[in-house]
This record gives sequence, structure tokens and C-alpha cells, in this order.
Amino acid sequence: MVVPYDPTRVDEASLHFDDTARRTQARDFAVTTQPEGAGCKECDLRMMCYADGIIRRQAGVA
Ligand code: SF4
Repeated sequence: MVVPYDPTRVDEASLHFDDTARRTQARDFAVTTQPEGAGCKECDLRMMCYADGIIRRQAGVA
């Protein structure tokens, strides 16, 4: 597999990583919006997120 090098994407990834590291160091773990993808379906914290209104129950998801 060949991954094309794109300096713009590398810069974007670096900024994203820096922001994530900054938030982690600041102990800012608040989830304010549901992440994309199917991760919530298998997450052990989903009941807390349901209770806090961060995510909504969907048909077929416990
Ligand atoms: S259930 Fe909550 S903690 Fe788990 S992935 Fe979804 S938003 Fe994040």
C-alpha cells in the first residue's frame, strides 16, 4: 500500500494531535457532541452519555 504524502494533511494532523494533547493535559474530557461512526454502540460509557443527553438512543441499540 502506498500512502501519498500531502504536507497539508500532515499539518492538519499535527494541529489535531496538538489540540488533543492540550485537552488531555488540561483534563478536558468533556464530550459535547456524539462522535461519528459506530463507536458508541460498543462503548462501556454509553449509559452515562444517554443520561447526560450527549447521545440519543437509537432503535436496536441498548
Ligand atoms: S458513548 Fe459517549 S464516551 Fe462512548 S464513544 Fe459515545 S460519546 Fe464517547
